[in-house]
Amino acid sequence: MRICVSACLLGERVKYNGGDNLVPDLAARLRGHDVVPVCPEVAGGLSVPRPPAELVDGRVRTRDGADVDAAFRAGVSACVAALDLDGAGLDLAILQSRSPSCGVNAIYDGSFSGRLIPGRGLFAAELARRGVRVVDIEDLDTAGL
Ligand code: SF4
Repeated sequence: MRICVSACLLGERVKYNGGDNLVPDLAARLRGHDVVPVCPEVAGGLSVPRPPAELVDGRVRTRDGADVDAAFRAGVSACVAALDLDGAGLDLAILQSRSPSCGVNAIYDGSFSGRLIPGRGLFAAELARRGVRVVDIEDLDTAGL
């Protein structure tokens, strides 16, 4: 399978706080597949580290209210183009939970208080809209790997 994976899950230090979300056994479980690590926020030109951001009424904003929506959406577009969905195809995306870009099942509610609501990050939503199967890393056991 050709599988897109949130880069932070593979140990790339691209999180907003400069860290990663390494899942130690993920690389081993992906062995034999064509793995494409992506970070849509870095692809959109955002720095590491960067202020935390959440979807607020449909736009991505930082905690201090700065509108960073354009950079987040530019990153989604750049990743979708780089993935060459129509040419190379993509069987699956395994994405980090709760991110305003990568979240699959839930995202923060925009209040920066830690509350979650059902919903998807911008990248996960766009992949799903284009017919790609998206799986939250917390549901990895359902991915059929
Ligand atoms: Fe990880 Fe996605 Fe956030 Fe990048 S945008 S740090 S890949 S969760």
